[in-house]
Amino acid sequence: MKTMHAARLVEIGEPLEIAELGIPQPSTGEILVRVRAAGICSSDIHYQDGRSKVTRLPITLGHEIAGEVAACGEGATLFNPGDRVCLFYLITCGKCMMCCTGRDNYCKEAKMLGKNIDGGFAEYLVVPERNAFTFPDSIPFSRAALMTDAVATPFHALKRAHIQTGDDVLVIGIGGLGIHAVQIARIMGAGKVIAMDLSPEKLSLAKKVGATAVINPLEDNVEKRIEEITEGRGVDVAIELIGLSRTIRQAVDSTGPGGRTVVVGICPEEMGLNPYHDLLLKERTILGSADQSRADFPTIIELVAQGRLDLSHSVSLELPLAEINRGLDILRQKEDNPVRIVITFP
Ligand SMILES: [Zn+2]
Ligand SMILES: [Zn+2]
Repeated sequence: MKTMHAARLVEIGEPLEIAELGIPQPSTGEILVRVRAAGICSSDIHYQDGRSKVTRLPITLGHEIAGEVAACGEGATLFNPGDRVCLFYLITCGKCMMCCTGRDNYCKEAKMLGKNIDGGFAEYLVVPERNAFTFPDSIPFSRAALMTDAVATPFHALKRAHIQTGDDVLVIGIGGLGIHAVQIARIMGAGKVIAMDLSPEKLSLAKKVGATAVINPLEDNVEKRIEEITEGRGVDVAIELIGLSRTIRQAVDSTGPGGRTVVVGICPEEMGLNPYHDLLLKERTILGSADQSRADFPTIIELVAQGRLDLSHSVSLELPLAEINRGLDILRQKEDNPVRIVITFP
């Protein structure tokens, strides 16, 4: 039997272990993918720390994946070996009402790569062929991997906010998702795009990719700055990517009449809300956004292929699989403010 290496979470709170496993074989309708790049997401740290639950142990983590088709199972006809593909990380039924109406992130059968089933911190994995999307040679694997989560998640969230031409948008949290949210807001027609973060490096990066103004709460009075920048109106859309009740509060408070707040950061805390002052009086909306939809992929790939969505600043560091725990630690400590760390395979 041919074997491969995979980085597995064996025990909560412990470093991942590199294991030697059999290379999985594609069943009917599935493809075998030789992984070339897999991004490390903050969620991976949450799974490792036990703050978010994986559903089995041991499990191979990794849900932000790009690679090459290595083999096609019976009846899998969409791809040929060698095709470059990136993967939608939810394995869904494809038939239920949710799947058929573009809400496949709510398919009752959905299983997530690297959380419920083995993911991409491995040399190979199998997925249903409908989870794979080809992308052109001009997009390197490490950037293609990011399209599947670091780009797709804010894309989905900002689509939910229905940005209108000229809308002012506030992006709270300029990490692996925020740097893309800034660009996506511009592409969707935003007027001003305001980036907020505690790190001056992250804020200068946000400017580089198109933020028209930045706010650092350590130095600025947030409320006053929003007022100045929007001439007293407040923003039309605020997207929160951190997951603290304090920053969600800031997002809501920053929106003006008719403003929409999209919550993407995972925040299990309660937060106070006065329905009259916070919502009714300004006709505000608070939206949640989780994961992404398969339907988001073609547009994202096209935008990156055209160069309208620039991922050249998005990969801070590439590491081999053997150094995955170092990658997780760097992200956990925010050493040198990494945007995305990507595990790459030769
Ligand atoms: Zn993720
Ligand atoms: Zn379904």
